[in-house]
Amino acid sequence: MAEKRDFYEVLGIQKGASEDEVKKAYRACVKKYHPDLHPDDKECEEKMKEVNEAYEILSDPDKKARYDQFGHAGVDPSYGAGGGGFGGFSDFGDMGDIGDIFGSIFGGSSFRSSRSNPNAPRRGQDLQTNVTISFMEACNGKSVQLKINRSEQCPDCNGTGAGAGSTVNSCPDCGGSGMVQTAQRTILGMMSSSRPCTRCGGKGQIIQNPCSKCRGSGRVNVTKTVSVNVPAGIDDGQTLQVRGQGNAGMNGGPSGDLHVVVNVRPDPIFERDGYDVTTEVPITYMQAVLGDDNLVVPCIDGKASIRVPEGTPSGMIFRLRGKGIKKLNRNERGDQYVKVVVEVPKNLNKTQKDLLKKFEDSLGENNYKNRKNFFDKIKDILKSDI
Ligand SMILES: [Zn+2]
Ligand SMILES: [Zn+2]
Repeated sequence: MAEKRDFYEVLGIQKGASEDEVKKAYRACVKKYHPDLHPDDKECEEKMKEVNEAYEILSDPDKKARYDQFGHAGVDPSYGAGGGGFGGFSDFGDMGDIGDIFGSIFGGSSFRSSRSNPNAPRRGQDLQTNVTISFMEACNGKSVQLKINRSEQCPDCNGTGAGAGSTVNSCPDCGGSGMVQTAQRTILGMMSSSRPCTRCGGKGQIIQNPCSKCRGSGRVNVTKTVSVNVPAGIDDGQTLQVRGQGNAGMNGGPSGDLHVVVNVRPDPIFERDGYDVTTEVPITYMQAVLGDDNLVVPCIDGKASIRVPEGTPSGMIFRLRGKGIKKLNRNERGDQYVKVVVEVPKNLNKTQKDLLKKFEDSLGENNYKNRKNFFDKIKDILKSDI
């Protein structure tokens, strides 16, 4: 496999470019390489893939930061950065397990020292992940499958942490509270302090025979595929909250939530402005002059026809009511604004030029109202010397 190109280089921007610059560069690349604009061009297709991949990373602040620090290895698990660590997935860490690590290193868990009851139900941590979808998918909604790493209740011991036939007993040293009181003689007299119980590691419980699958923690880390419905109308940067798909709770507490940050790739034809979409449609000089009763324009759900009246200037904007983006959780859509831009013909041959000159000669002041008014206004200026 060829060496992977630098993502900044792919988009043609400086390292560390801003969010806006990334977006701008991406739009430019889309206009240049989009396969719809170059059907059957394999090279463009490959370029577009490369551009999409670069944009997916650089448009996401988390992934961009990792890429800036670690390069491709920071955002691509197949670069051998250790699987779960950098799987393109940012989890908030499993605090429960970190607590266990602290417990084994420092002989007590700093996370539990302030809890009155270490065995009270606790809600699981929330997790966060990202998904990138196309502009059209954002318009229509899409069901996406997301791979996430999360902790779940251990299936072997049902979360108790105890192996088969083993019992869980209240810790005799701390009486199940997870904390022990100590009295120390100091120069100020007797000082009383509490510290996590070393015998049970602050858990308040002693398991005779820890479960071998979860080593007594009651929880296991698993990779899960979660199906998420991205609703029609979602915009770039919005976050979906998926209830109960985060880490499992402790001691019978509820699971945390999964936050899905949605990135939407820009489209080469449509631009979004709130719930409205804007499109630019090139028309010919003749269509502008004579009008067109049936100018077919693309819409996010197909096509529509607009009536271009006779003598339409370049840059005129037409509104298509209700042809915009569906409003989130509402049965209503924004509008579409179509800007017609007259394309001035180029590379005319002699016959065409002669025809045009003949046509122009046939026109009079009556045909060019603005031009006449303009020259009337600047008459005096034109009279003066340069
Ligand atoms: Zn277990
Ligand atoms: Zn104890």
